[in-house]
Amino acid sequence: MEPNRTPTPASSPVDLVITGGTIVTDQTSFKGAVAIRDGKVVAVGSDDTMPEARETFDATGLHLLPGAIDAHVHYREPGYTHKEDWRTGTAAAAMGGVTTVFEMPNTNPPTATVEALRLKQKAAEKAYVDFGLYGLLAEDNLDQLEALIEGGVAAFKCFMGNTFGNLPSPSTGAMLEGFEIIARHGLRISLHAETASIMALRQKKLMEAGRTDPLAHLASRPAVVATEAVSRAAVLAEWTGARIHILHISSGDELRPLRDAKARGVDITGETCPHYLLFDENAYTDLGPIIRVNPPVREKHHQRALWEGLKDGTIDMIATDHAPHDPEEKTREVIWRADCGFPGVETQMALMLTQVNAGSLSLTDYVRLSSTAPAKAFGLFPHKGALVPGSDADIAIVDLGRRETIRAEALHSRGKITPFEGFEVVGVPVHTLVRGRFVMRDRKLIEEATGWGLSVTRVQAMPKPEPRHVDETTAAITGGKSGQAGSSTQEAA
Ligand SMILES: [Zn+2]
Repeated sequence: MEPNRTPTPASSPVDLVITGGTIVTDQTSFKGAVAIRDGKVVAVGSDDTMPEARETFDATGLHLLPGAIDAHVHYREPGYTHKEDWRTGTAAAAMGGVTTVFEMPNTNPPTATVEALRLKQKAAEKAYVDFGLYGLLAEDNLDQLEALIEGGVAAFKCFMGNTFGNLPSPSTGAMLEGFEIIARHGLRISLHAETASIMALRQKKLMEAGRTDPLAHLASRPAVVATEAVSRAAVLAEWTGARIHILHISSGDELRPLRDAKARGVDITGETCPHYLLFDENAYTDLGPIIRVNPPVREKHHQRALWEGLKDGTIDMIATDHAPHDPEEKTREVIWRADCGFPGVETQMALMLTQVNAGSLSLTDYVRLSSTAPAKAFGLFPHKGALVPGSDADIAIVDLGRRETIRAEALHSRGKITPFEGFEVVGVPVHTLVRGRFVMRDRKLIEEATGWGLSVTRVQAMPKPEPRHVDETTAAITGGKSGQAGSSTQEAA
């Protein structure tokens, strides 16, 4: 039940009926209408079958998609609010047709303890859209993991390689124990799969050799950095039964260990991001430090492999790695000093719908990759990721014919600088609803909807955990003294 609504008696008019549009699922699309009551879809059918409604909305000529679920955003609050905060970050999501975000723990303080989680939850009270919060899995917080689960994290993040915030990556030993603990609860662990030691050594040698140019960033992180990390994470997931998710797949090489792990029955999913699909190595010349991101944008053959991986299902979903910085931080001449990443949550849908219009992807594939697959991976389906009776009425209403030019200055993020500046897009979200309420209407943010967003843990139900090798875990061999795993239950979190 929604905390801030009184359920309406079933006989009275529904809150809203959206008529005249084309409803798109991950399987098919059809002309139809959607009726919404108390934030949920209560009917889907032809216009003339809809119940009486307090408000109707004409979506003739438009497409209704389940709102995008972005499994990878950085909202910087607490700690780095000159880059972004929860109000600006979720406003950008609302403007981009994104109705649920999963937010990363590399804030200050990092979301590694229950106290830090409370600060993050407080910051998230401003959200325009629904959200899941990542807890951190690090070397030194194994005794906090179960308290974080109890405190309401929706998933975990493990940095196998460094990125903004410079959180030290855990040893493989700590990863294994963390996986053992989390496997008992079934929550998914998302991995920044780049091996820190390889990158650190190569970067040091490049710096000693005097390299400061943008392409030195790519040279410091060749694809083997990611391939080694994906393979190692998959081995640990297979042993422990932990569910894992590979963030920001940037290379064709990672697809082999991903496919192999799936074939072995490992519960592993993977995402890529628009920048890996739309840029190649020429971006280092064209954009300089603005294109610096971890992992790096790579050579053209990787881009081609990623498109193949999207189409054949090896890559499960599209996320953005939304990572805003301020212009000064993003444009430093010495590449090692330029901050990594850029905003993406507001532009993903328009960029990918442009690819749909160009024939690179079908609209149903796009719904699967942007909404249905992440909903399934993170235990939200069919509350989210679908438009069926009973689903949350999270809807992106898109105009597939509308043309716009992406302009950094028009973005709602605080850190606006983007490599997509000047991109012509065809197909943009024009209205966004979160649980039946407009948070963006006619391409305008509904300012007063700040605070409407809720934590997804209220609907999250991960499948029953399937931990393996339970009598060989660190907790088992030490009589339950390690972490707090010995006292945990087998309940789904
Ligand atoms: Zn990230």
